Amino acid sequence: MNDTWSKADLHIHSHHSDGLATIPEIMKHAQDNTDLSVIAITDHNTIEGALLAKSLEDDFDIEVVVGEEISTKSGHVIGLFIEEHIPAGLTVAETINRISDQGGVAMIPHPFSNQGVFGPFGVKGFGAALNELAFHALETYNSMPFLVYANRVAAKVFAGGQGIAATGGSDAHVLQGIGKGYTLFRGNTAAELRASIDALETRAETGRGGLGIALRYAFHFPRIQRQREWNWERCKPERVR
Ligand SMILES: [Zn+2]
Ligand SMILES: [Zn+2]
Repeated sequence: MNDTWSKADLHIHSHHSDGLATIPEIMKHAQDNTDLSVIAITDHNTIEGALLAKSLEDDFDIEVVVGEEISTKSGHVIGLFIEEHIPAGLTVAETINRISDQGGVAMIPHPFSNQGVFGPFGVKGFGAALNELAFHALETYNSMPFLVYANRVAAKVFAGGQGIAATGGSDAHVLQGIGKGYTLFRGNTAAELRASIDALETRAETGRGGLGIALRYAFHFPRIQRQREWNWERCKPERVR
């Protein structure tokens, strides 16, 4: 049995949606300035950047998982290990099915935030959803500064152990955010990450530097907002709640 454990950041945005960094910048930063072995590029409603990252994999000492953060009718769902774009605006169940049909992993990011599938008051619906929705992983840690409370709820709900893998991601929109939330997995390749998720042995963890990151986001927020407006068709929320 492989006893090496490595880190993967499974939630990163590039400027193909509302992130500020380009794909080569993200890959170079992850390689040189973090101890991550695997990163997933999960732009809003596009896999363009993720596919580009995958094609550059050999030039960097980092493995890439192709992902997409899809705006469903009721909140964000992330598809990991996918090959084809999945459109926005479908139901959560349909979106999860499309991810599964491609052999991907359906992960619910920031489940109890405003754009989360369960919403800030959605803990009650969570039990029922576990039976109705065949998702594979729950992001129990998301390093966006304002999600402290939502993370706590996710960790608490998850403590029951529902046969779902726990994952962590940074939701980075700037280079400095990459790796601030991560998933610990057995092995060090993307294939081993997948096996570790399937075996439900991943753990969500948090990096240091929370306050520094919060300040950086405050500083960068106007630019992230502009990037979001520029890419509005991809980044707009589908849900009217
Ligand atoms: Zn999101
Ligand atoms: Zn995100």
